[in-house]
Amino acid sequence: MTVLARDRYAVAIVGAGIVGLFTAYRLARAGAGPVLVVDRGFLSGGASGRNGGGVRQQWETRATVRLARESVADYRAFGREFGYNIWFRQGGYLFLADTPSELEKLRGVTEIVRAEGLPARLLDADGVDSLVEGLARGAVVGGAYLGSDGTLYPFPAVWGVYEAARSLGVEVALGVEATGVTQRDGRVTGLVTSRGSVAADRVVNAAGGWSGDFARRAGLPVPNVATRHEILATEPMKPFLDPMVVRASDGLYLSQTMRGELVGGLSLPHPPGTGGGMSTSPQFLPRMARTVTALFPALGALNVLRAWSGFYDDTPDGLPVLGEDPRLAGFVHANGFGGHGFMLAPATSRRVAAAVLGTASDLDPALFGPGRFLDPRRAAPVERLQLG
Ligand SMILES: Cc1cc2nc3c(=O)[nH]c(=O)nc-3n(C[C@H](O)[C@H](O)[C@H](O)COP(=O)(O)OP(=O)(O)OC[C@H]3O[C@@H](n4cnc5c(N)ncnc54)[C@H](O)[C@@H]3O)c2cc1C
Repeated sequence: MTVLARDRYAVAIVGAGIVGLFTAYRLARAGAGPVLVVDRGFLSGGASGRNGGGVRQQWETRATVRLARESVADYRAFGREFGYNIWFRQGGYLFLADTPSELEKLRGVTEIVRAEGLPARLLDADGVDSLVEGLARGAVVGGAYLGSDGTLYPFPAVWGVYEAARSLGVEVALGVEATGVTQRDGRVTGLVTSRGSVAADRVVNAAGGWSGDFARRAGLPVPNVATRHEILATEPMKPFLDPMVVRASDGLYLSQTMRGELVGGLSLPHPPGTGGGMSTSPQFLPRMARTVTALFPALGALNVLRAWSGFYDDTPDGLPVLGEDPRLAGFVHANGFGGHGFMLAPATSRRVAAAVLGTASDLDPALFGPGRFLDPRRAAPVERLQLG
């Protein structure tokens, strides 16, 4: 049985996914004092071990483009910094438009990305065909492409940050559930866990799809909603697909790993919340088979090796929630990443660590701060390019 080593920590983090672990690592490097990370499950049991490994910099908000670009630089340097090969392959991200209005949306995205100095390109149908072999004739009218986007293997990334954090003295307690916080005079004073209570000056909510539940347990209602998303991996086949391909209209995404497997998913209308579990549903495989073979007719004979699901942690405006909660001093959010926490974790964890330490950061609280939802007008989507 896991026993917590201390009864007082400077920082207690809930969730040992990529977000919680990166935050712990940055705090330990900054000399924040004793850091505890608790997770009621196992390493990679949450979305960090269930995702598509996509890393893109094409976004609708300039601030997110900048965070993503910084994360790409971090992932390029991952091997040197952490000593693990995460197989980060910059084969590009290709958003497909199947109607002229989808293409117009992508034009807007491309302009924003280019304004940030990244060479994104808007393509016509021939331009798309020149990047991807085997697309069904007439299936797309164009697309948007950025060659420095790519894919990585999530598992060595999680493991590398976990090992690095532990070697800096971070205590990672697996199998320990956080059930609430203690507080006095509007300040967090500690974390309540299934292994007892510990004192902590700051608590970070990095509980992924369960972050809304944990915030509510701390007495802080938030609009985060867990959304189940399904994904599969096929048997390996000869490499043919360089970029990650994403179709915004139905959320289809597909990439090919270096070993040759295709990894992809699409959006199904699952009820909100974590109640549906993380297995695969009966609708998913037939729907995915029909959709993928309509787009790539030659893939009809491919076998699926495994399928599973995980939870996005969605927010009403499609942006993550980062920073101290104005209603409770010392309670810091690092959640609401939707389907993009892996690609944003390296950069956002620097800002979350700054919020914990009370140091300055470039994060715009009006865009990312938890206080934005106290203003009812902020319920409108800002970042709509949600899939892939
Ligand atoms: C199918 C799918 C595909 C995706 N594809 C991509 C992609 O291509 N690129 C990308 O960047 N992102 C993708 N994502 C999203 C990405 O995986 C997540 O945004 C990211 O992993 C979130 O990391 P996290 O650390 O916040 O959460 P998680 O990895 O979910 O970790 C949260 C942890 O908190 C623990 N926890 C929860 N509640 C408690 C509690 N009360 N006490 C203790 N522990 C608790 C859980 O056990 C879990 O381990 C995808 C997600 C899914 C589901």
